[in-house]
Amino acid sequence: MRDTTSYMLEDAIHARQDRTGHFRRGFDYLKQNAIKGTLLGRRYRFHWNINLYVELASWCNGKCWFCINRVNYRQDDTSDDRFVASFEKAVQQVRFLDPTVQLAGGEPTILPDRTRAVLDIICKYRLRKPVMTCNGSGLVRDQGLLDSLAPVLDHLNISRHHDDHDHLGALMGFKNPLDNVLLAEIVRDHPIGEKLRLNCCLQVGGIETAVDVRRYLDWALDMGVRNVCFSTLSRLPGDYMYQEEFVRLAKERYVDIGPVVDAITCDPRFTFTKFHTGSHCMYEIWQYARGDRSCVVVFATSDNNFARDLDDVDDLIELFVLHADGVLAGSWNRHRKVVA
Ligand code: SF4
Repeated sequence: MRDTTSYMLEDAIHARQDRTGHFRRGFDYLKQNAIKGTLLGRRYRFHWNINLYVELASWCNGKCWFCINRVNYRQDDTSDDRFVASFEKAVQQVRFLDPTVQLAGGEPTILPDRTRAVLDIICKYRLRKPVMTCNGSGLVRDQGLLDSLAPVLDHLNISRHHDDHDHLGALMGFKNPLDNVLLAEIVRDHPIGEKLRLNCCLQVGGIETAVDVRRYLDWALDMGVRNVCFSTLSRLPGDYMYQEEFVRLAKERYVDIGPVVDAITCDPRFTFTKFHTGSHCMYEIWQYARGDRSCVVVFATSDNNFARDLDDVDDLIELFVLHADGVLAGSWNRHRKVVA
């Protein structure tokens, strides 16, 4: 493998078998190839294709046991006006790096005014490849939000951790008003349907086998969805920022991506496209075809032990996160690598 992307299935299989080795190499590659620059008077090394994540709020109507926001420090929110001003300031500070932008939460769709104001700034500064990740619940109450999102976003990611709606509710700890019927209507009737991606977290008691993955994909194809991402629970360091119970559950309910992707590798309905590894995440991109329908399928896995190691290298910034209280940091940890 010459750099971090390969079009060879052999490389993907090798990476599946030696994930720790590949993350280590991805981490080394980042250290060696990061670009040098100055931010607010301080010298850093930055990822060459850096992403600005925007945590639109710290709170959510979902109660997923596997929520990555289960951290052991308090997360504060701020007013819409202050948050939007912080976002614009952050954009002005980092746009010399031409970042891509990804909106996340908490749950962005239950804050439609804040989300719209953030979309306006994305347009004003022509930020690259805007993506939003949400559970979609607020879209039922404010359908006009879809009209605001559609022309701006490259992708709208909706978390859908099971194809059965009741089962989904049990996993996420709430009954999402965006049920399967309404979701299918959006895919069919709204321009955002073309840009919709379903995110599914593999877990014991949820989608956990290659058979489950195929059933889920058939359900998604029936709705007209063309993009699905299956991700594993991240490996979590116990001595970092995550709540103890979350670390324990993430270990107990972990579904390894290896056997799932090994099984689909032998299935003629799946075609391998490419493989990509970073310092703590890796992705295999496949195509699933059934009759005249097909969709992109991403398998993602991550190890946040390497994210913690990255936090220990003070001058190396792989990503920016605008936290819900308006603090800009070079880490998902609100208290590490605070920039402004
Ligand atoms: S919907 Fe997303 S942000 Fe909300 S609790 Fe679940 S994982 Fe966390």
